[in-house]
Parts: sequence; C-alpha cells; structure tokens
Amino acid sequence: MSSGFYWHERCFWHDPGAIGVFSSAGEFRQPQPASESAESKRRLKNLLEVSGLIDALEVHKPAPASREDLERFHTSNYLDHLETADRAGGGDGGDCAPFMPGSMAAARQSAGLAIAAVEAVATGQLSNAYALCRPPGHHAETDRGRGFCLLGNIPIAVMRARALGQVQRVAILDWDVHHGNGQQAAFYDDPEVFTVSLHQAQNYPLDSGFFEEQGEGGGQGANLNLPLPPGCGLGAYDYAMRRLVLPALEAFSPELIIVASGYDACAKDPLGKMLLNSAAFGAMTHQLKTLAERVCQGRLVMVHEGGYSEGYVPFCGHAVIQALADSDIAVPDPQNEEIAAWGYQALQPHQAELIDDWQKRWFADSGQASTGEHYDAFA
Ligand code: ZN
Repeated sequence: MSSGFYWHERCFWHDPGAIGVFSSAGEFRQPQPASESAESKRRLKNLLEVSGLIDALEVHKPAPASREDLERFHTSNYLDHLETADRAGGGDGGDCAPFMPGSMAAARQSAGLAIAAVEAVATGQLSNAYALCRPPGHHAETDRGRGFCLLGNIPIAVMRARALGQVQRVAILDWDVHHGNGQQAAFYDDPEVFTVSLHQAQNYPLDSGFFEEQGEGGGQGANLNLPLPPGCGLGAYDYAMRRLVLPALEAFSPELIIVASGYDACAKDPLGKMLLNSAAFGAMTHQLKTLAERVCQGRLVMVHEGGYSEGYVPFCGHAVIQALADSDIAVPDPQNEEIAAWGYQALQPHQAELIDDWQKRWFADSGQASTGEHYDAFA
C-alpha cells in the first residue's frame, strides 16, 4: 500500500491580511504580511515536485469539509460568525486568527484534506498519509479561532471518523513548538482519544500546556503535555520521544496515530526557540512509523500545522514525507550538518531532569517504566 498526499491550491489562497508579524499595524508598526503565509507550504509542495518524491505518493485533492462535518466540533454560532465576516470583507476568528474574503473556502478545504487523509488511513485504503493543511488548525477551539487557526482540522477529522465508525481509539501527537490546545480541549474528557503535546513551555497560548493538565472525568490520564524549556535540540527531543512520548503512545494502544506536524521547533523558525534540523523531523517520523507498524498496522496520518521559516520548512517537510513513504528520494539540506554541530544540541542536565520527572509521574500509577532503549535513537 502506498502513502497518500493531500493538498489543494485553494488552501494557499487563505489571506490573513497585512496584520504585522507580532501585532497589528499602527503608528509605529509598519504593516507587514502575517507570519503565517502560503509560502512555506507552497515551497514544500514545489520541493516534492522537483525532487520527484511526489511521484512516489498517491496524490489526492479531496472535497472541502461539509457544514455537518464542521458542526461535530464547532458551534453553529462560531461558524456563522466566520461565514458572515468572510462575506463582509474579513475579520478575526477570535484571538489572532485574522482572515480576508475567501478564507472560509480555504479553511473548509483545509479541514477537507485532514478528513480525507484520516478516512483513507482509518479504512485501510492507504497505509499512511500527509495532509498539507492551511490554514492550520491545532489552536482552534469549539467557539473561537486562535493563533492563525480558524477550524480544528484534526478534531473535525477525528470526530467524523469516529462518528462513521471508521476508528475509535486515536492518539494525537502534536510536535508543533506551540501547545496543541485545540486537540486537548476537544478531547479533554474523552478516554478514547489520547492527546500528547511536545512544545516550548508557555509560548503560545501562555496559559495552557502544563504537565499537570492530564484530562478530566473519564478522560483523566488521556492528555499528556511536555512543556519543554527553550533551547531544546536533537538530544532533548530524542530523549523526550524515547523516554516518555513513544512509551506513552504504545501503552495507550491506539488504532490510529495522527501527528500535528508543525515545523516551528526547527532551528530557523522566527517564532520558536528550539534547535531541530530536518534530519530530526525525519527521525521522529521514523520512530513513529516503526511504533505505528507495531501497534496499529502502520496507521499514521501527518497533518501540517505551523512552521514559519519559508526557506527551511520545505526541507523538514520533505524529510517527514520521505520517512513516511519509506523512499530513497532525499534532497540535500544545506543547513542540516551545521545545525547539528551547534552548541547545546546534546541532552542537557536540566532537560533530562524535567523529562525524567514527567516520566516518573506519568507512569507512577500504572507501574510501567521505560528506559527508552526499546526505541531507535537519533541523537
Ligand atoms: Zn506553532
């Protein structure tokens, strides 16, 4: 079976407007395009074309999400607000989720990519898939957009697949440098959807993403946050993956694994303060693919989230898709070795201390423990 690639030109037409990079334009703030732009995603698609890797994938341009699909996660009021503002010249979905006319069509298309990718993998039509979604979705909540996200692409896709009986137990790993608050909120009381987020502590949103947030009600123990200190590189991510993330995912025994694949933990990102190179993203994908093959027949879906380095995101995304497709088609990343040679890439004592502490507390109840030796290392 092959790997699927889901994309649509319409997603690149979403326009957040000239909102400025850090805040809206003003007397002393020159207008500038938003940090979130089409360019990083379009360049990834272009790199796949130029390298030829896209020819090894099963390419799909699925339909946009229906209103019924959106309403499994979002409130009618919120969707009406988006539709009305879209027709009236644009607006803001809530907290820094600006958009111009036409963006709702792009957002419905973006959710449609995640829906189709999840359906194809959940029903066994493809072994795994990549959805090049834009706008991103992992900050969107049921009744508001946040952080460049209008619609919750992953919650929408998961809720639909579960409603149609395609899958029940789903694990979502979010390695975007920002907290995956959208997935966390969507499934916080649900024991059948395990949400994990690996992010820079208190970057965005400022008030969520703490280790202590572990779910509520029946969902207690089905949410895991690893709020990492800034400056984490290859050693810290590899240690976090092998010591806690992979064992926790394996213990949950999902039927499907979804990754909220942002690339803003890369060393070149203007919004994140982490140190990963493209090889690290490829290696983390390899770790997950190996795990998925062991626990859920290889069912793995990657959904594109953040990542604001227009030059570097394409190399990271290409490495992920190459690993997903188990392909020999690589592209030379001119920055990879230099980033790997930067100081403090190795696991630092304060990083190990935090991860060890979370590992002990997470597995304290179940009595399980893992040294991480069971999983392939990359650093
Ligand atoms: Zn992000």
